[in-house]
Amino acid sequence: MTPRPSDADAPRPVLRVDRVSRSFPGGVTALHEVSLSIEEGELLAIVGPSGSGKSTLLNLMGTLDRPSSGRVEISGTDVTELDDRRLSTLRGRMLGFVFQQFHLTDGLTAVENVSTGLLYAGVPRRDRRALAEEALGRVGLAHRTGHLPAQLSGGERQRVAIARALVHDPALILADEPTGALDTANGESVMELLTALNREGTTIAVITHDRDIAAWLPRRVEIRDGQLTSDTRDMSDARDTRRGATHGLG
Ligand code: ADP
Ligand code: MG
Repeated sequence: MTPRPSDADAPRPVLRVDRVSRSFPGGVTALHEVSLSIEEGELLAIVGPSGSGKSTLLNLMGTLDRPSSGRVEISGTDVTELDDRRLSTLRGRMLGFVFQQFHLTDGLTAVENVSTGLLYAGVPRRDRRALAEEALGRVGLAHRTGHLPAQLSGGERQRVAIARALVHDPALILADEPTGALDTANGESVMELLTALNREGTTIAVITHDRDIAAWLPRRVEIRDGQLTSDTRDMSDARDTRRGATHGLG
């Protein structure tokens, strides 16, 4: 469904940010020469305090904003070269978004909300419902397909949003503070879900200010004052022991 480059010799990253800077009118440099590469199958946190440049970086990674300088590539395509129409097509096919406040449509049922994730993915209308139901099953909500957002708990709403983000099998899911509006138990449950989806092959970047959330994930990229300050990976087999890990980033 999703076009992917298939160069077996040189597996390209799903996302490459190359010496990207972003300045705003008035002279604020929110990002300064940031470089970051995300390989297929990774699960990482981008973690930093308020004002460090996380949202600015997320917007660039998600092709919602353009850098002042530098390149952003998604699955080998230089997105800084694309016009807005091509960019929104690529975004609809290659990326999935999860937001702190869920951003579900109030008047639509869970399955209808998830179906909206297929609108720009080139999936025929007749196939959308079955795919949306399958995605709801993957997030543990097969029994809630006909519920409206108002009839769901916060944790369930975020699961619907996650189903919407993955229903078109994107190359990368970008989750911006996905647990920020949830209590601890629901937040942990959402992190467990993201971890399980990653084990099934989904590539996920979680943006967070919360080091405890970041400590759940096998790779942590730290951002501070618009620059990346560290990039730490666990040994791959350490992952299963991270549940409830309390150790921070050192
Ligand atoms: P974070 O998401 O980590 O809290 P942001 O990326 O939102 O950080 O902001 C990084 C810096 O860039 C902050 O100093 C912020 O005030 C500034 N900034 C962000 N967006 C804009 C904008 N549109 N115009 C001017 N300054 C901005
Ligand atoms: Mg922010």
